[in-house]
Amino acid sequence: MPMDQQLDCPSAPHQHPEARLLGVVLEEEGEARVAYLDKGTALPDDFDADALGIDPGHALRFSAPCANHGCGQWRDGGCGLGKAIIAQLAPVVDVAPSCTLRKTCRWYTENGTASCVRCPQVTTRAHPSKAVHVPRSAYGPHPTHLTPSPTPRPERGETVLR
Ligand code: SF4
Repeated sequence: MPMDQQLDCPSAPHQHPEARLLGVVLEEEGEARVAYLDKGTALPDDFDADALGIDPGHALRFSAPCANHGCGQWRDGGCGLGKAIIAQLAPVVDVAPSCTLRKTCRWYTENGTASCVRCPQVTTRAHPSKAVHVPRSAYGPHPTHLTPSPTPRPERGETVLR
């Protein structure tokens, strides 16, 4: 893969202007499980999250172009969230699920199928016991000026802190 290839974030906020629908969050024995769509689907221009009557992060997964060092989760030249998920969550499936994002997925590109077997449990819905915390970089220097990120700083209580 070319070093300069644009990769995609597999857990993007629906507010991202280039957000695409990646999957639907189902529930399996009380646990969230993402069912990945056969096709990445752009959100319609008139997509109204409020009309769903539920936080979109409870029901849907979105992808969007990775903001690289412009994202609040960027650590040491890569995605800190992808690394934290591997460190803090157990696999929930035996094989990588069929997924339209794989060729450009930031997590898969950096971590391979170790990300994919954990990915279906990732949602942004409130569940304090399952929060994934992205540690600060152990290596300096830390950036002092971050550009505005389409993946905002985490809020308390999310399953995966965006
Ligand atoms: S981590 Fe794997 S399963 Fe999840 S979005 Fe990326 S390629 Fe798809």
